[in-house]
Amino acid sequence: MVMRSEKVKKVNDAGDIREERITTLNDEEVKDGNYVLYWMQRAQRAEYNHALKYVVEKANELDEPLLVYFGITDDFKEGNLRHYRFMLEGLKETKKKLKERDIKLVIRHEHPKEGVIELADEASLLVVDKAYLDFLRDWREDAAEEVNVPVVEVETDLVVPVEEASSKEEYAARTIRPKIEDELDKYMKEVKKRELENSSLEFDFDTFDIDDLDSALSSLDIDESVKAVESFEGGTAEAKKHLEEFLNHKLGGYGDHSNDPSKDYLSNMSPYLHFGQISPLYVALKAKEKGGPGVDEFLEQLIIRRELAYNFVYYSEDYRSLACLPDWAQETLEKHSDDEREYVYSREEFEEAETHDKYWNSAQKEMVETGKMHGYMRMYWGKKILEWSETPEEAYETALYLNNKYELDGRDPNGFAGVAWCFGKHDQGWKEREVYGKVRYMNANGLERKFDIDSYVKLVEYL
Ligand SMILES: Cc1cc2nc3c(=O)[nH]c(=O)nc-3n(C[C@H](O)[C@H](O)[C@H](O)COP(=O)(O)OP(=O)(O)OC[C@H]3O[C@@H](n4cnc5c(N)ncnc54)[C@H](O)[C@@H]3O)c2cc1C
Repeated sequence: MVMRSEKVKKVNDAGDIREERITTLNDEEVKDGNYVLYWMQRAQRAEYNHALKYVVEKANELDEPLLVYFGITDDFKEGNLRHYRFMLEGLKETKKKLKERDIKLVIRHEHPKEGVIELADEASLLVVDKAYLDFLRDWREDAAEEVNVPVVEVETDLVVPVEEASSKEEYAARTIRPKIEDELDKYMKEVKKRELENSSLEFDFDTFDIDDLDSALSSLDIDESVKAVESFEGGTAEAKKHLEEFLNHKLGGYGDHSNDPSKDYLSNMSPYLHFGQISPLYVALKAKEKGGPGVDEFLEQLIIRRELAYNFVYYSEDYRSLACLPDWAQETLEKHSDDEREYVYSREEFEEAETHDKYWNSAQKEMVETGKMHGYMRMYWGKKILEWSETPEEAYETALYLNNKYELDGRDPNGFAGVAWCFGKHDQGWKEREVYGKVRYMNANGLERKFDIDSYVKLVEYL
């Protein structure tokens, strides 16, 4: 029997997980409950998950079973059928993997915050994975206020914890890079599995059945206007297949070819990272272990650029609007907002890929059809929305709307940072010109000069 005072002590003991990953969100004390509860929200995986490992350790120390909870709400911000299907594919696998470890995953069709508050009534301790976007942080903070057990947040979706990398919003990759590099060795460590001692499989809770995905999806009241994609299937096993393929056949050429939309040199990790179906730390360690050319360039994107994006949404309250931009970018866009535009398209025309530019239309079509636009084309695509919209404000809204609606990896910190970059965020001023002002410009000649861009157009035609 573990004494209550000992239990309190143990919550603060991080075991072999660095304590910088762990934050307690309220001042409650551990109760004598029926189980330890893990609210899985962002890190939707059964492995390489610091939050899961932490909570297994706590359940074993408290000699209690561990219950994992996932709540599915119909109105997750900007989510639609495409996203829900990919997520449920992943959750189905995660449920099976947890079951193999004697851990019950209770999935319910309800608002996660309300569901977790109810289940916490019989828990001794609640653990949740860390979130970065404002509304997801609010969910956790609200829950922490409502429940009468400690709520411990464990960070597992960045290699270097966001507040460890920097305590403020960073200006650019060049300012966050040295800070992350200083910390990196501490965090590039394997996450070894810890097994649960007390099975929770016998718990009998009503759960939302996801064995038959079609009927599960049809019972949700969600936006069905964007179809699910065949190009990517959700889940950790699928993520690892893409990673294997990348490490064995593409990583070596990543440095030279990852920008070329007519070639296939990307990792395809972004949808899996977005849904937490694979750990960025796992991907980084595997790439490092593989070694050779391409590794540095890949880790620059996976760690520095990605963690800069997370720094951005974590510290900027304005990540959904032009107000997030540095002063020089806001001023120059304002100064040029009345410049005459050679072409002006409405949101609907952009959405239907009805511009005069076949490269832009192909990029839009690639995103709509496959759920993933090539990374280089995303920059061109966003820049042209700025150039061909009535105002920069309208352009910003259009870019976020389309990105978040159609990209499988949309609604992610990377998406907010990517769109903001097209308008000058994390960049410097360039030669002043019409419409863009000093914001960096991109044009079709560049695509033609650097790549066999017509073969990209042909590839998209065959989708
Ligand atoms: C306008 C615009 C919108 C974007 N929208 C999104 C989005 O919604 N979701 C999203 O995940 N990424 C977005 N990006 C960033 C980037 O284009 C994608 O992460 C990348 O194309 C995903 O494909 P991949 O995983 O095959 O990339 P790889 O090149 O194989 O990169 C591996 C990983 O590194 C990270 N990464 C790569 N490029 C960037 C970058 N520029 N910024 C931050 N992290 C990066 C991603 O996590 C990516 O999965 C956007 C970029 C722009 C310019």
